[in-house]
Amino acid sequence: MSAIAFDLPPDVQEVREGVLRFVEAEVVPRYEKNHALLSDARALYDETGRYAPGVRDLIRQVRMASAKAGFYAMCAPQSLGGGGLGHLAYYVAWEAIYRRLGGQATLTPWVIAHWAFGPSPVLTQVTEEARKRCLSGLMSGETSMCFGLSEPGAGSDATMIKTRARREGEGWRITGRKLWTSNAPTADWCIVFAVTDPDRAARKAGGISAFLVPTDAPGFHVESVVKLFGHPGGHEGALALEDVRVEPWQLVGARDDGFKVALYGVSLGRVYNSARAVGQGRWALELALAYAQQREAFGAKIAEYQGVVFPLADCASELHGAHLMGLNAATLLDKGHRAVKELSMAKSYAVQAGFRAVDRAMQTHGGMGLTNEVGLIHAWHDLRVVNIADGTNEILARTIAQRLLAGDTEL
Ligand SMILES: Cc1cc2nc3c(=O)[nH]c(=O)nc-3n(C[C@H](O)[C@H](O)[C@H](O)COP(=O)(O)OP(=O)(O)OC[C@H]3O[C@@H](n4cnc5c(N)ncnc54)[C@H](O)[C@@H]3O)c2cc1C
Repeated sequence: MSAIAFDLPPDVQEVREGVLRFVEAEVVPRYEKNHALLSDARALYDETGRYAPGVRDLIRQVRMASAKAGFYAMCAPQSLGGGGLGHLAYYVAWEAIYRRLGGQATLTPWVIAHWAFGPSPVLTQVTEEARKRCLSGLMSGETSMCFGLSEPGAGSDATMIKTRARREGEGWRITGRKLWTSNAPTADWCIVFAVTDPDRAARKAGGISAFLVPTDAPGFHVESVVKLFGHPGGHEGALALEDVRVEPWQLVGARDDGFKVALYGVSLGRVYNSARAVGQGRWALELALAYAQQREAFGAKIAEYQGVVFPLADCASELHGAHLMGLNAATLLDKGHRAVKELSMAKSYAVQAGFRAVDRAMQTHGGMGLTNEVGLIHAWHDLRVVNIADGTNEILARTIAQRLLAGDTEL
């Protein structure tokens, strides 16, 4: 019996079943065949800290197979050649994918396009010329992109960015640094945010524009790969831009109004992370329940000890709540509501609940929970990160509080 009282729309159920069939046919076998490469951090990365060529190739294969099967661009607008599906389909598909793949973290994020890495409504904001140059590669999964907003001195408060685009003739020259740019070490394109009107930027009244920059442009450098949790490599880049020339066709959205570009993707990103946290949390909880029923200590299965199973019961309650919040926020978005409060709640609650569930599953496994073989450690890393990335829990709490104080007290 489903724990959810209402049925998903039939098209969303079909997407869920279809994407799971795709995962079984195209993703699980790649994880199995390439176990040695994907499970050993020393093989996963090259000497610069980027994914090794074989790993990059597998990621591309997953993207391209998914594009062929119709899932990769399923939430990109139909005007771009995408499937035009909504947030609920995205949520349900990602929750199912992560519940199935759990801690297998390298190929999984590429099963459906992430708004900042592949085709998404953000691309409706690029010029006709840019579409001609980037769209077919991004839609087919051959190429990917990244989103360069954060900088060493600008994170939660993105208005503090210092990267500058100076006017030169019809175009601009961009100089500055970016930090934390996910997928930058292997992306083909980067949406770079830069100050175009310093006076307006100083008054925090716009003055920042977005530009689509090929990552092989002269002056565009991935200075280093950011290494998290002691890994020998990573997925985030620190960028240096030195006089990178951009032409008018590279402007994304309106000049001096670049932050609006993010609005075309940020909801999808938070729906993704809400779904991922619930999916990985459920996967971890199921592992913990199975382990507790076979592991013995002091003459009994550990599942007989309330100290082991009551925390798991708490995790189940939290994940159920997070799941309902995610489904609700995605449905509100599909009905045309901005759902700022509800999506902020769904994302921050889910990433905390998901992280607690994975952490508790590790505790249930004892020492085994800390090994690569069980995979909990990878989900633990993933979910720890999204308590900070994609809007920290505190910034989301701030947004929720602002909405409440403005009178939006519907719950
Ligand atoms: C793995 C990873 C991937 C990322 N990917 C990208 C990417 O692709 N592109 C990109 O542009 N950025 C990316 N980011 C950057 C991310 O958006 C920032 O890390 C995030 O916005 C927080 O900024 P910060 O790290 O500078 O922390 P800060 O903004 O310095 O915050 C430090 C602490 O202060 C708290 N804080 C700040 N202001 C307030 C306040 N008003 N009230 C209460 N608490 C507050 C924060 O919640 C946090 O706990 C990524 C980050 C990570 C970790």
